[in-house]
Amino acid sequence: MAADLTILYRGPLSSCNYACEYCPFAKHHETAAELATDRRALERFTDWVLNDAVGKLAIFFTPWGEALTRRWYHDAFRRLSHADHIQRVVAQTNLSGPLDWLRDTRTDRVALWCTYHPSETSRTGFLTRCKQLQDFGIQHSVGMVGRPQDFDEITVMRAELPPETYLWINAYDSGDGTKFPYSPTERNRLTEIDPYFPTNIVDHPSLGRDCRTGRSVISVDGDGTIRRCHFVRTPIGNIYDPDWQSALTSRPCPNNTCGCHIGYVHMPELGQEAIYGDEILARIPQTRVLEDSTAIPNR
Ligand code: SF4
Ligand code: SF4
Repeated sequence: MAADLTILYRGPLSSCNYACEYCPFAKHHETAAELATDRRALERFTDWVLNDAVGKLAIFFTPWGEALTRRWYHDAFRRLSHADHIQRVVAQTNLSGPLDWLRDTRTDRVALWCTYHPSETSRTGFLTRCKQLQDFGIQHSVGMVGRPQDFDEITVMRAELPPETYLWINAYDSGDGTKFPYSPTERNRLTEIDPYFPTNIVDHPSLGRDCRTGRSVISVDGDGTIRRCHFVRTPIGNIYDPDWQSALTSRPCPNNTCGCHIGYVHMPELGQEAIYGDEILARIPQTRVLEDSTAIPNR
């Protein structure tokens, strides 16, 4: 059942233990004071979700950098997942941190979007961690960035993952905001692995189009500022104001295009809810559309 409100939380955290060449947060370290600020912001947000938010909620942590190496995110997952009005607690992660804390969560409500970065970790180690998630009963997707130098590794990873684990591929963007110009051969090769890859390589026209963000999906930062999504910077309210719900209303998209999965999945015209269902945040398809248009259960 869809949540009444989905919150994409992105606090001030901006550090990562990995050094992906295309990422501005690569090996960025933060001071103890900066980390303490992130922890306080997250604790305040968690308290608000538990005590003041209304309706059935889904919470999606989409940090700059890596959050699940920080124990205050583990605490937030534990607290949120056990609350009756929370349907899903999800995070994007490089899966490098400890995993045992997940045992203390409501594992049926937790899901992870796990990105495998072959320049930063071994395939064997990553697969071992995926196996641990499976043993814990944690729903998860695995994804890779479609860099040309990683095509072979993507193929091998697909072969070595359990068949029921979806492997998504993101269009490679070397940092200038434009997507890599895949040749038809490259595109076909990657689409054989991820049938939804063609959706990700497109910057979807969105200006003036309907989008659920701002109405049933919002972005919230560490100060509580509400924006409709991560890609439209205009604030529309603050969750710590008593009348925060007045911010929630339908608005057409003000941007020309939307090219990121965590944005365009909320455009009704793209039909992404029919693919991902209740696991839309963790990017786990509930059906997989094959080339012959036959839909088969994915898991
Ligand atoms: S793991 Fe993610 S946040 Fe960290 S450097 Fe790589 S792309 Fe950036
Ligand atoms: S279409 Fe994309 S950019 Fe536009 S409002 Fe929705 S999520 Fe934001």
